Amino acid sequence: MSQSFDVVVIGAGPAGYVAAIRAAQHGLATACIDEWKNHDGSTAFGGTCLNAGCIPSKALLESTELYHRAKEEFSAHGIQVDGVKMDVAAMQKRKTGVVKQLTGGIDALFKANKVTGLKGHGRLLAAGKVEFTPHDGKPETLAAKDVILAPGSSPIGLKAIPFDGKRIVDSWGALEFDAVPKKLGVIGGGVIGLELGSVWQRLGSEVVILEAMDDFLFTVDRQIAKDAQRQFSKQGLDIRLGAKVTGAKPGKSGIRVSYEDKTGSHDLEVDKVIVSVGRRPFTEGLLGDETGITLDERGFIDVDEECRTSVQHVWAVGDAVRGPMLAHKGSEEGIMVADLIAGEVAEMNYKVIPSVIYTAPEIAWVGQTEEQVNESGRKYKVGTFPFAANGRAKGMQQTAGLVKIISAEDDDEILGVHIAGPVAGELLAEVVLAMEFSASTEDIQRTIHSHPTLGEALHEAALAVDKRAIHAINK
Ligand code: NAD
Repeated sequence: MSQSFDVVVIGAGPAGYVAAIRAAQHGLATACIDEWKNHDGSTAFGGTCLNAGCIPSKALLESTELYHRAKEEFSAHGIQVDGVKMDVAAMQKRKTGVVKQLTGGIDALFKANKVTGLKGHGRLLAAGKVEFTPHDGKPETLAAKDVILAPGSSPIGLKAIPFDGKRIVDSWGALEFDAVPKKLGVIGGGVIGLELGSVWQRLGSEVVILEAMDDFLFTVDRQIAKDAQRQFSKQGLDIRLGAKVTGAKPGKSGIRVSYEDKTGSHDLEVDKVIVSVGRRPFTEGLLGDETGITLDERGFIDVDEECRTSVQHVWAVGDAVRGPMLAHKGSEEGIMVADLIAGEVAEMNYKVIPSVIYTAPEIAWVGQTEEQVNESGRKYKVGTFPFAANGRAKGMQQTAGLVKIISAEDDDEILGVHIAGPVAGELLAEVVLAMEFSASTEDIQRTIHSHPTLGEALHEAALAVDKRAIHAINK
């Protein structure tokens, strides 16, 4: 065997590269393997999140939101700007720059922490043995006391509408359009569909979202989802629910997508189609023939609460194991596993994982929805507060949306917090910490919030749980 390590991590996305850095911080000799190749053939650490997911999408969401504000909202502030135009190439260049800085940052962090970064394919042969095949090189076998599998996930395609990389694309393709499609079809009205649909709609695309479910954002608290849906429709996103896509054919100039809903069969002619119907664990080529690693019926690597696989000293983290496919969930699992390998006590609180959809309004939540609490049979109280009654939001001209807190009737436990509104994801951090510390709603009520801040909306929602909101009529 050519090289030997304490820990070899396969995958350098947010789960894998974080696990590698933490392991190295423990003084463990660590290598991290990643095979990522960009569309231009360049290689980079960072996985989907940094190269083709979270980071580039947030860069585009920011650019297009600013463009939208300049066009539609600046005048309310008295700012007169004529002839606002978007230079798509410049927008894309900035996005690529942001991505490069962050992926380059991982190289620097690996170096600083003495992680051996290896670019190429990694395959688990058996406990303690990993095959590494460099890009354009010969396979070599690495020895490792512990192996962490962090292979991530890949987009699910539709048989009836196969990706062609040009007109029918996945989320990665949709981040790289070099021109604004006149008409854009989005199949799947989940997180990706809404984020990327918003990007191109703000730039002038006519966007139609076809969502198979009858309920909009069916995993989100109903009240929040309805509020957000109203705002998306007002912005011009054409969201068609209960729409089951049956196929697609080349049309006169673009693609003709066929779908069925309660009212019958329909055709939709669009220039481009984004297929965003979910992601699946990416385990192709990851496991040798007799590793003993088991997968569940949906292809996720079986793990216990501590991310141990069915084989001793092999761990798995991130999108390829059960739980939400969220970068921060993967990173925390990576840290937990590295700590456990180093012999420390570590655990992960799966009940308190925040979620954010980076649209406008931003949608953020943690804990249970009102529907889930209802179903659990636990008695609860709800407090809501609209941003329209918040001074800072008024000053910002960002008054759409609300904060909702669900609290247990018996012991005041915070059961769920849901926000639709400006920087909802940032606001949520306060309650994520509160829930992590088992704080009660009264604790938030008694916490002093600066005035005027958006955080006061959260404070008022907590007060509203006991009908004590100051700046709203308590019903
Ligand atoms: P998703 O699960 O969020 O949404 C997919 C949607 O497609 C669902 O609403 C589903 O009902 C619908 N759908 C499925 N099949 C369909 C069909 N044939 N026709 C029409 N609709 C159909 O999945 P996604 O948006 O593809 O995102 C994938 C994963 O990436 C998710 O797990 C998500 O959490 C993660 N992600 C997270 C963020 C974030 O945290 N902001 C951003 C992007 C992606």
